[in-house]
Amino acid sequence: MVNFDFSEEQKLFRKAVREWCEKELPLERIREMDSQGEIPKEIIKGLSDLGLLLMTIPEEHGGAGTDWTTACIAAEELGYADISIALPVLFLVENSWGFVVDKYCTEQIREKVIRKAVKGEAFVGIASTESGGGSDVAAIKTTGRKEGDYWIINGEKTYISGTEEVKKLGGGYFLLARTSPPPPGASHRGITAFYLPINAGGVELGKRLEEMGRMAISTGSIIMENVKIPDSYRLGEEGKGFYLTMEGFDNARLLIGATCLGAAQRALEIGMEYIKERKAFGNPIGKYEGIQFDLADLWAELEALRSLVYRTAWMNDEKYKNKRFTPHEVAKYISAVKLKVPPFAFKTFEHVLLWLGAWGYSKECPLEMGLRGIMSYYIGAEGTVNIQRIVIARELLGKDYIPYK
Ligand SMILES: Cc1cc2nc3c(=O)[nH]c(=O)nc-3n(C[C@H](O)[C@H](O)[C@H](O)COP(=O)(O)OP(=O)(O)OC[C@H]3O[C@@H](n4cnc5c(N)ncnc54)[C@H](O)[C@@H]3O)c2cc1C
Repeated sequence: MVNFDFSEEQKLFRKAVREWCEKELPLERIREMDSQGEIPKEIIKGLSDLGLLLMTIPEEHGGAGTDWTTACIAAEELGYADISIALPVLFLVENSWGFVVDKYCTEQIREKVIRKAVKGEAFVGIASTESGGGSDVAAIKTTGRKEGDYWIINGEKTYISGTEEVKKLGGGYFLLARTSPPPPGASHRGITAFYLPINAGGVELGKRLEEMGRMAISTGSIIMENVKIPDSYRLGEEGKGFYLTMEGFDNARLLIGATCLGAAQRALEIGMEYIKERKAFGNPIGKYEGIQFDLADLWAELEALRSLVYRTAWMNDEKYKNKRFTPHEVAKYISAVKLKVPPFAFKTFEHVLLWLGAWGYSKECPLEMGLRGIMSYYIGAEGTVNIQRIVIARELLGKDYIPYK
């Protein structure tokens, strides 16, 4: 039998997150955050009090030990509240990359960063992308050289989320560096993952990048010059960092899908309120089929994608809890989520903005924040649409059909 219902606990959880968001994150507050370029500390603390920071890590490590379906509920609610997407970015980066750091780190690192991040007193992010490109993770130029019990890291990462947040809160990044030349035909090997504490000697944060959206969370660069970190900061096996990265990406992409559902739902609701009231040619514009049909199409697509997101979240949970699906099987669905939901959310904001006429184009209307924010997920944060197509085709055709190795 197929059961499409959430558990009572999950329903109560959704209600609690919704109520907190209604109180703390009305759209006027989101506008303020968007203009000021900052997520207030008390909001991060609020996320922690609700148990939303690194919520899927085990309770023994300070987390809430929830499943990914519950994390998706939180992401959906945060996307519904903060359509600018800034707070959802903080939520998703910390949940997905904090999860991987926690899974592979020593107790010492857990004490230093994970337990603090759960309380909103540290930030954990991902530092993979470099100026030469982000899609081809195996082509990174940052190097790690082993010297006794230490690693010497050199390189530069860019378009990295949270560089101002990490300055304020402390913490660090899941970092990728090439530690040995790749064997022929396996460029993804020879890359090692590390935890990079932001206060390590030789780490410098570049200046904040000016972006088009999600203004309340920062993006910047990290320059590493002869950064010396102990071997105990290595995450997972030497040369196998690529696999850990894919695990982080998968969880992040799933949460992005859920966030985009919430944001699209909010845009539709704002739009519906407007078209019932706004009159043209003697009628509310919601009476005209030109508008109604667009609404019906968007709603139908939203519901189809909501089913995909939660079915995929369930598969991800089954993968972790019962090993019922392989990581590859789940990755195919997760890439379908990342391929389809952000562009759909973007389209929803675009269409609803058109319903709103001139008001939609003004900053009095909240929707333009959504259009700018969602674009970050659409354009490539945590992987572009073409990269999702590559993952799906690899799973459909088999790895012999990957065009490069
Ligand atoms: C707002 C934002 C926040 C980000 N935060 C982080 C972060 O915290 N940490 C981090 O490490 N990175 C971060 N990134 C970087 C992100 O991961 C990269 O933008 C993404 O991986 C794409 O890399 P790129 O921008 O260099 O594009 P490229 O890799 O240069 O790709 C350019 C275009 O070519 C296409 N393309 C590439 N290869 C192929 C192919 N084989 N077939 C067909 N098309 C192809 C891509 O789809 C894309 O359209 C962030 C990006 C954004 C926009």
